Amino acid sequence: MLFLTTCSHSWIAKPKDVPGYKRCQPFKGGPQMVKIPHFERSFLLTDGCWFMDTERVSIAMYLFFKEWKKRFSPDSRAEQDVLNALNALMVEVGDSKKTVTAYTMDGTIWSGASASGLTVSPTWVWIRVRDGQRLCDTSFVHELIHVVIWATKKTDGDPDHLGSKYYGWKIDHNVLMQEVNELLCRWGV
Ligand SMILES: [Zn+2]
Repeated sequence: MLFLTTCSHSWIAKPKDVPGYKRCQPFKGGPQMVKIPHFERSFLLTDGCWFMDTERVSIAMYLFFKEWKKRFSPDSRAEQDVLNALNALMVEVGDSKKTVTAYTMDGTIWSGASASGLTVSPTWVWIRVRDGQRLCDTSFVHELIHVVIWATKKTDGDPDHLGSKYYGWKIDHNVLMQEVNELLCRWGV
Protein backbone atom coordinates (compact mmCIF):
# COMPACT_ATOMS: atom_id res chain seq x y z
CA MET A 1 0.00 0.00 0.00
CA LEU A 2 1.27 3.46 -0.85
CA PHE A 3 0.74 6.50 1.28
CA LEU A 4 2.04 9.25 -0.93
CA THR A 5 0.28 12.51 -0.40
CA THR A 6 1.52 14.81 -3.12
CA CYS A 7 1.60 15.01 -6.87
CA SER A 8 4.76 17.03 -6.90
CA HIS A 9 6.16 18.48 -10.10
CA SER A 10 9.60 18.65 -8.58
CA TRP A 11 10.53 14.99 -8.60
CA ILE A 12 14.27 14.75 -9.03
CA ALA A 13 16.37 11.60 -9.19
CA LYS A 14 19.72 11.73 -7.47
CA PRO A 15 21.50 8.69 -8.86
CA LYS A 16 24.92 7.89 -7.43
CA ASP A 17 27.91 6.44 -9.25
CA VAL A 18 26.56 7.17 -12.72
CA PRO A 19 29.47 8.25 -14.89
CA GLY A 20 29.19 11.69 -16.47
CA TYR A 21 29.05 10.39 -20.03
CA LYS A 22 25.86 8.48 -19.18
CA ARG A 23 24.11 11.60 -17.93
CA CYS A 24 22.40 14.39 -19.78
CA GLN A 25 24.87 17.21 -20.44
CA PRO A 26 23.01 20.44 -19.64
CA PHE A 27 25.34 22.75 -21.56
CA LYS A 28 25.69 20.64 -24.66
CA GLY A 29 23.91 22.17 -27.64
CA GLY A 30 21.68 20.16 -29.92
CA PRO A 31 20.06 16.80 -29.45
CA GLN A 32 21.68 14.15 -27.28
CA MET A 33 20.98 10.52 -26.48
CA VAL A 34 20.98 9.58 -22.81
CA LYS A 35 20.89 5.96 -21.64
CA ILE A 36 17.68 4.91 -19.88
CA PRO A 37 18.65 2.90 -16.79
CA HIS A 38 17.59 -0.75 -16.46
CA PHE A 39 16.72 -1.20 -20.16
CA GLU A 40 19.60 -2.60 -22.21
CA ARG A 41 19.72 -0.43 -25.31
CA SER A 42 17.07 2.19 -24.63
CA PHE A 43 17.78 5.89 -24.91
CA LEU A 44 16.13 9.21 -24.27
CA LEU A 45 16.60 11.55 -27.23
CA THR A 46 16.31 15.11 -26.06
CA ASP A 47 17.23 18.67 -26.99
CA GLY A 48 17.74 19.68 -23.39
CA CYS A 49 18.00 18.11 -19.96
CA TRP A 50 15.08 20.02 -18.49
CA PHE A 51 12.33 18.24 -20.46
CA MET A 52 12.53 14.86 -18.84
CA ASP A 53 14.97 12.66 -16.94
CA THR A 54 15.83 9.09 -17.78
CA GLU A 55 15.02 7.83 -14.28
CA ARG A 56 11.36 8.77 -14.56
CA VAL A 57 11.15 7.23 -18.03
CA SER A 58 12.71 4.05 -16.66
CA ILE A 59 10.25 3.90 -13.74
CA ALA A 60 7.31 4.34 -16.12
CA MET A 61 8.56 1.61 -18.47
CA TYR A 62 9.25 -0.77 -15.59
CA LEU A 63 5.83 -0.21 -14.05
CA PHE A 64 4.10 -0.42 -17.42
CA PHE A 65 5.72 -3.78 -18.26
CA LYS A 66 4.81 -5.21 -14.86
CA GLU A 67 1.18 -4.07 -15.05
CA TRP A 68 0.84 -5.16 -18.69
CA LYS A 69 1.96 -8.67 -17.76
CA LYS A 70 -0.44 -8.77 -14.83
CA ARG A 71 -3.42 -7.68 -16.89
CA PHE A 72 -2.77 -9.54 -20.16
CA SER A 73 -1.03 -12.73 -18.93
CA PRO A 74 1.02 -13.00 -22.15
CA ASP A 75 2.66 -16.23 -23.25
CA SER A 76 6.44 -16.37 -22.99
CA ARG A 77 6.93 -15.47 -26.67
CA ALA A 78 4.80 -12.32 -26.43
CA GLU A 79 6.45 -11.36 -23.16
CA GLN A 80 9.90 -11.69 -24.72
CA ASP A 81 8.86 -9.74 -27.83
CA VAL A 82 7.63 -6.86 -25.69
CA LEU A 83 10.67 -6.95 -23.45
CA ASN A 84 12.91 -6.86 -26.54
CA ALA A 85 11.07 -3.77 -27.79
CA LEU A 86 11.34 -2.00 -24.42
CA ASN A 87 15.02 -2.90 -24.24
CA ALA A 88 15.66 -1.18 -27.56
CA LEU A 89 13.33 1.78 -27.22
CA MET A 90 14.15 5.30 -28.37
CA VAL A 91 12.10 7.83 -26.43
CA GLU A 92 12.26 11.19 -28.15
CA VAL A 93 10.99 14.13 -26.11
CA GLY A 94 10.48 17.77 -27.02
CA ASP A 95 8.06 20.64 -26.73
CA SER A 96 7.60 21.40 -30.41
CA LYS A 97 4.16 21.11 -31.98
CA LYS A 98 3.62 18.46 -34.61
CA THR A 99 0.56 18.62 -36.82
CA VAL A 100 -0.47 15.22 -38.08
CA THR A 101 -3.26 13.20 -39.58
CA ALA A 102 -4.17 10.70 -36.91
CA TYR A 103 -6.97 8.67 -35.43
CA THR A 104 -8.88 9.60 -32.30
CA MET A 105 -9.37 6.98 -29.58
CA ASP A 106 -12.62 5.77 -31.19
CA GLY A 107 -10.99 5.39 -34.60
CA THR A 108 -12.14 8.61 -36.31
CA ILE A 109 -9.50 9.99 -38.65
CA TRP A 110 -8.60 13.61 -37.98
CA SER A 111 -6.31 15.71 -40.16
CA GLY A 112 -4.57 18.75 -38.79
CA ALA A 113 -4.49 17.31 -35.30
CA SER A 114 -1.89 18.59 -32.88
CA ALA A 115 -0.06 15.47 -31.73
CA SER A 116 0.74 14.90 -28.08
CA GLY A 117 2.74 11.83 -29.03
CA LEU A 118 3.57 9.48 -31.87
CA THR A 119 4.74 5.91 -32.21
CA VAL A 120 7.08 6.43 -35.13
CA SER A 121 8.31 2.83 -35.50
CA PRO A 122 8.16 -0.41 -33.45
CA THR A 123 10.86 0.95 -31.16
CA TRP A 124 10.70 4.74 -31.53
CA VAL A 125 8.22 6.98 -29.76
CA TRP A 126 7.97 10.74 -29.65
CA ILE A 127 6.22 12.55 -26.84
CA ARG A 128 5.46 16.21 -26.40
CA VAL A 129 6.68 17.34 -22.98
CA ARG A 130 6.39 20.85 -21.63
CA ASP A 131 8.96 22.04 -19.13
CA GLY A 132 8.31 20.57 -15.68
CA GLN A 133 5.49 18.33 -16.87
CA ARG A 134 4.98 14.98 -15.19
CA LEU A 135 5.32 11.91 -17.37
CA CYS A 136 1.83 10.75 -16.32
CA ASP A 137 0.39 13.88 -17.96
CA THR A 138 2.01 13.10 -21.30
CA SER A 139 1.07 10.47 -23.87
CA PHE A 140 4.03 8.22 -22.98
CA VAL A 141 2.00 5.30 -21.57
CA HIS A 142 -0.38 5.59 -24.53
CA GLU A 143 2.58 5.25 -26.91
CA LEU A 144 3.90 2.26 -24.91
CA ILE A 145 0.63 0.49 -25.67
CA HIS A 146 1.24 1.02 -29.40
CA VAL A 147 4.75 -0.40 -28.84
CA VAL A 148 3.33 -3.51 -27.13
CA ILE A 149 0.79 -4.07 -29.90
CA TRP A 150 3.45 -3.58 -32.59
CA ALA A 151 5.85 -5.97 -30.83
CA THR A 152 3.31 -8.77 -30.67
CA LYS A 153 1.28 -8.13 -33.83
CA LYS A 154 4.40 -7.35 -35.92
CA THR A 155 2.65 -5.45 -38.73
CA ASP A 156 1.55 -2.24 -36.98
CA GLY A 157 0.75 -0.75 -33.59
CA ASP A 158 -2.98 -0.34 -34.30
CA PRO A 159 -3.01 3.36 -35.19
CA ASP A 160 -6.81 3.68 -35.04
CA HIS A 161 -7.07 2.49 -31.43
CA LEU A 162 -10.62 1.23 -30.84
CA GLY A 163 -11.60 1.84 -34.48
CA SER A 164 -12.38 -1.04 -36.81
CA LYS A 165 -9.77 -0.51 -39.58
CA TYR A 166 -6.89 -2.00 -37.60
CA TYR A 167 -7.08 -4.46 -34.73
CA GLY A 168 -5.14 -4.88 -31.51
CA TRP A 169 -6.18 -2.07 -29.17
CA LYS A 170 -8.79 -3.20 -26.64
CA ILE A 171 -10.75 -1.60 -23.81
CA ASP A 172 -8.38 -3.40 -21.46
CA HIS A 173 -5.54 -1.29 -22.88
CA ASN A 174 -7.44 1.86 -21.88
CA VAL A 175 -7.83 0.49 -18.37
CA LEU A 176 -4.11 -0.35 -18.24
CA MET A 177 -3.23 3.15 -19.46
CA GLN A 178 -5.39 4.77 -16.80
CA GLU A 179 -4.05 2.58 -13.98
CA VAL A 180 -0.40 3.11 -14.87
CA ASN A 181 -0.85 6.87 -15.32
CA GLU A 182 -2.71 7.18 -12.01
CA LEU A 183 0.05 5.40 -10.15
CA LEU A 184 2.75 7.46 -11.87
CA CYS A 185 0.88 10.63 -10.91
CA ARG A 186 0.67 9.47 -7.29
CA TRP A 187 4.42 8.97 -7.39
CA GLY A 188 4.84 12.43 -8.86
CA VAL A 189 6.38 10.84 -11.94
ZN1 LIG B 1 -2.36 6.41 -30.30
